[in-house]
Amino acid sequence: MDAGGAERDELIAAFLADRDESCPGCGYNLRGLERGRCPECERPLVLRIEPLRSPLGVFVAGLVALAGGSAFSLAVGIYVLAAGMWGGSAAGAITAVWPAPLTAVFQAALAAEWIRRAGWVSRLPRGAQHGLAAACWAVGAGLCWLTLRRVALGWI
Ligand SMILES: [Zn+2]
Repeated sequence: MDAGGAERDELIAAFLADRDESCPGCGYNLRGLERGRCPECERPLVLRIEPLRSPLGVFVAGLVALAGGSAFSLAVGIYVLAAGMWGGSAAGAITAVWPAPLTAVFQAALAAEWIRRAGWVSRLPRGAQHGLAAACWAVGAGLCWLTLRRVALGWI
């Protein structure tokens, strides 16, 4: 059964009286809203019951960043080592590549920790989950960049 327009507005006003909720359309903070329509984008709003969203998207995003970063660092290390040995300068390649296995192992350890704490992460507020997933990407991409930079500096 759908609540009528006035009743719907009352429910929304009561819900948003003391909550910071973002408009799903434009992100505008709807706190204190008194009608069922976003004042910024004019999108009509409804209240509804939903099952708790699965944190699978956040979990996968963090895992891809850390495990992918680990695999990337390992691949760079193997490639540079192999290329150095084939090119006749194994010592130069080892000098260039030594951070790659370290960053690969570090990122793999973080990925394992991410998996171990998946339940804990799923109980955090949505914003904190997204922040952690973003941190995983920052760490994964940052370490890959450092590995590549080190390889480029050591290689030349
Ligand atoms: Zn809006």
